[in-house]
Amino acid sequence: MAHISKSAFVRGIQCSKQLYYYKNNYNQRDALTESQRVSFKRGVDVGILAQQLFPKGKDLTPTSPWQYRQSANITQHYLQQGDITLYEASFLYGSLYAIMDIVVSTDGSLNLYEVKNTRSVKEQHLLDAAFQYYVINQAGYTISNIFIVYPTHNLEDYNNDVPLADLFVIKDITNIATERQRDIEKSSQQQIDMLSAPVPPEIKIGSQCFKPYACDFMKTCWTNISAEIINSIINDNEDKREILFNKQILPR
Ligand code: SF4
Repeated sequence: MAHISKSAFVRGIQCSKQLYYYKNNYNQRDALTESQRVSFKRGVDVGILAQQLFPKGKDLTPTSPWQYRQSANITQHYLQQGDITLYEASFLYGSLYAIMDIVVSTDGSLNLYEVKNTRSVKEQHLLDAAFQYYVINQAGYTISNIFIVYPTHNLEDYNNDVPLADLFVIKDITNIATERQRDIEKSSQQQIDMLSAPVPPEIKIGSQCFKPYACDFMKTCWTNISAEIINSIINDNEDKREILFNKQILPR
């Protein structure tokens, strides 16, 4: 059974063929570009710094990304102990899987904190937070609120000269997440059904290949496409052209 995490879910909303490849043809994905490597590293650093907003938590980072049930059972074990703060806690509902950056459990109810290395809350952040909310709620936990935490400063230069509390915005998105629960349920079921098909869905390349993230399977879909079609899709957009350069789909 293929498991769907928040990043897989967002991929599937962007393009269901991308999700199909991600789950069935993972080794076919494009090599990471240098800017993607830097961005992932910064995301991890921001997440670790944000944990200090909720100190003395128990780090439950899974030892293996594939041990879904075992990781969810460990989270359940700690949440049954009483009030506690957890980092990277895992939750499982059927084939849907969530790892929450920070969970604060008080009197049996959870506050959920999703950390993003961004300067504003974007649509894709709301989507993946609503997915996390859905999985955790359906897994049987009571949720008080869900928040997106993001930095106010460029943290590359951070050297303790700004108080930690001033470094982050903690935005309550509970209303948005709860309003989206029916859509999440419907979309996640569609994704589960799509993944059980023997072949990927027929989807042509288009502007969806770039938003919200450059697809990881562009080399698979964009090779042997005529310059005319490529130009009609990117429409002189320099950012899109740069992505195609970096993935070596277009020659410099
Ligand atoms: S390259 Fe485009 S069409 Fe192909 S899987 Fe990715 S988003 Fe979908």
